[in-house]
Amino acid sequence: MGFDYSKISDLCIKCGKCIPECTIHRINKDEVTSPRGFLDLLNAVNNNEIELDKTTKDIFESCFLCTNCVDVCPNSLHTDFAIENIRRDIADKFGLAWYKRAFFYLLRHRWAFDLVAKFGYMFQTCGFKIEEEKNAMRSRFSLPLIKKDRLLPSMKRVPFLKKYPQYIKADKPDKKVAIFIGCLANYNYVEVGDSLVEILKILNIDIFIPKKQMCCAAPAYFTGDFKTVDKLAKYNLEYFNEFIDDVDAILVPEATCSAMLKVDYEHYLQEYAPQYLPLHQKIKSKIFGATEWLYANTNLLELLTKQERSVTYHDPCHFRKVQGIYKQPRAFLQQAYNFKEMSDPNVCCGFGGITMQTEKFHLAQKAGAIKAEMIDQTQAEFVSAECSACRIQITQSLNEFNSSAIFKHPLELIYQALKNEN
Ligand code: SF4
Ligand code: SF4
Repeated sequence: MGFDYSKISDLCIKCGKCIPECTIHRINKDEVTSPRGFLDLLNAVNNNEIELDKTTKDIFESCFLCTNCVDVCPNSLHTDFAIENIRRDIADKFGLAWYKRAFFYLLRHRWAFDLVAKFGYMFQTCGFKIEEEKNAMRSRFSLPLIKKDRLLPSMKRVPFLKKYPQYIKADKPDKKVAIFIGCLANYNYVEVGDSLVEILKILNIDIFIPKKQMCCAAPAYFTGDFKTVDKLAKYNLEYFNEFIDDVDAILVPEATCSAMLKVDYEHYLQEYAPQYLPLHQKIKSKIFGATEWLYANTNLLELLTKQERSVTYHDPCHFRKVQGIYKQPRAFLQQAYNFKEMSDPNVCCGFGGITMQTEKFHLAQKAGAIKAEMIDQTQAEFVSAECSACRIQITQSLNEFNSSAIFKHPLELIYQALKNEN
């Protein structure tokens, strides 16, 4: 049986509070591409007044799933959940593009993703050679150079999950944590996990790296591939259950992954697999964003002293709006750096998921330009956000804006500050 969209759309009182906050409406000022418009259209599809065709598909795929609308709605209507469900119907009706199917296959099969990452690492060295040649040419014509740390994420030679042993024991620790790393930090931004491991070692905390963890399934969820979500969510919950009683927390240095594990799994399970809800209840109380847990449970803040460098912080939608996490990463960065708040750190960076980054990249670019300008205006040396999806999008947007700000994860900056002090 299909999802009953009227459960959400009938509760919309048409107040319009969500409209000025909506990421897609900000760059495409049409009522149709607004939360209220999406809900109206969903109602029409639900009542068979409008067909789910290529035009409606195009409209529903323009939502960034930023949850700004949920945050301001007086009824807390989960327009995001309704859109995720209609994308499932879209995927069922139209099928998924071959590259999405291939990518989700990798998410479901770690061995295949490891293999592709290995080949990716080998072949990208050719890519860098081309970039270097491009830069040589640009320098001849006095054009701004493409900075290496602003290029799209490169694969690392050894993924995080293969780099470290399963247990990293501390000397008489009073805490033990597991790390859920997320695919981007596993294969691309390995320095995020490296920094977390080093910080935990300094804090004398026992580390457990669950080697059989799988993708949280967020990319598939936002694209409507619920079969992949079903498989990965059930797998991860059963696997976490094997060790959850032995650890104080599962630290997730990624806003999207932690939101998926903690909040989106619950929405999904309530609708499609309620028998897994008790297991999820047990596990979700131990899932934390990395800075969230470090702030509440350690003396890390006291170990930091001011560095000469400046930083601004972007609030990932899946942290601030979905989980209420925004003070903790700021507290560390304010303690260790010259902190410069941007004009509206809560505005979505415009990543928007796989469809947005591929088929609707012009929309991601428009939303990204707003964020890049905001970051650039602070004149901060670094921009930070506890999210690798934001990192891809912000890095790309800064590159297009020709800004000199460089992206660093808060954990990288915290570890950098700790290293400088020692
Ligand atoms: S999730 Fe974001 S882009 Fe989508 S309707 Fe809500 S505010 Fe607009
Ligand atoms: S804020 Fe909520 S109730 Fe008001 S128009 Fe938007 S979705 Fe409807």
